[in-house]
Amino acid sequence: MARSVILLSDEEVALVRESSLLVGKTLAEVARHIGPGVTTAALDALAERFIRDNGGLPGFKGLYGCPSTLLISVNDQVVHGLPGDRPLQEGDIASVDCGVLMNGFYGDSAYTFCVGEVPADVRKLLKVTQECLALGIAQAVTNNRTGDIGAAVQQHAEAHKYGVVRELVGHGVGRKLHEAPEVPNYGKRGHGTKLQRGMVLAIEPMVNMGSKEVRQLDDGWTVVTRDGRPSAHFEHTVAVRDGQAEVLSTFSYIEDVLKAKGELVDM
Ligand code: MG
Ligand code: MG
Repeated sequence: MARSVILLSDEEVALVRESSLLVGKTLAEVARHIGPGVTTAALDALAERFIRDNGGLPGFKGLYGCPSTLLISVNDQVVHGLPGDRPLQEGDIASVDCGVLMNGFYGDSAYTFCVGEVPADVRKLLKVTQECLALGIAQAVTNNRTGDIGAAVQQHAEAHKYGVVRELVGHGVGRKLHEAPEVPNYGKRGHGTKLQRGMVLAIEPMVNMGSKEVRQLDDGWTVVTRDGRPSAHFEHTVAVRDGQAEVLSTFSYIEDVLKAKGELVDM
C-alpha cells in the first residue's frame, strides 16, 4: 500500500527545522574531530553524546535495528556504513549521515568529509555531488514533481560521467524518518509525485565516480560501489514552498569548523 503524502503546518515545519539544525551542529562536532587516525566509532560516540546533551534523540539508533547514531561510509561505501574501530586514513572520504528526533519530528542530513589531503579527482566528485544537491533542491517547489528533482540531479551528475545510484532514494521526513514520497536521484521532468506546499523532503544525491552499480555487504547494512571506486553523498531536509524551497538543515556550522581548520574544500 502506497503511503500518502503528509503536509506539515508552518509550526510543524519549524520543529523539523529545529531537529535539522541540531543535525547540522552535530555534523559540525564531527567536523571538529574527524581526521587521520580517528575511528568512526569515536565519531559516533561523540555525536550521540552531543545530540543527547542538546535535548534530542539519535534518529537512526534502534530504527530498523540500526545500532548507531551515525552512518559513516568511507571511500567506496555509498551509504549505511556502520561505525567501527577502523581508523580513518589520510586521503579517505567519509560520508557522515545523521538523524535527530526532537519534539516529535525528525531532521536528516549528510555531508561527505575529506580526511586530510584528498586527490583532486575525488574532491571534484564531492563538489559536483554538492552541486547536484543544490540543483535538486531548486526544483523542490509547489507544482513541480519528484521527477524534476531527480532529473536535475541525474543530468548534472551524468554530465560529469558519474553514476547515479538507483537503489537508494530520498524521502519525505516528518513524524517518521521515512515518509512518502520517495525522491529518486534520477527521473524525468514532469513525472512522479506532485509537490505541494508543506511537504518536507530529504533530498540526498548519492553519486559514484564510476558506474552506478552498487551491492550490499554481508553485514546487511553497508552499500558499496560494485567497481570499488569512491562515492559521495550530501543530504538536506527541505520544505516545499511556492517559488523557492526552504532548506531546513544547514552545512554552515560544518563549513565554519572546516574553514577554521583550513580544511574547507574549494566547493
Ligand atoms: Mg540521512
Ligand atoms: Mg535520508
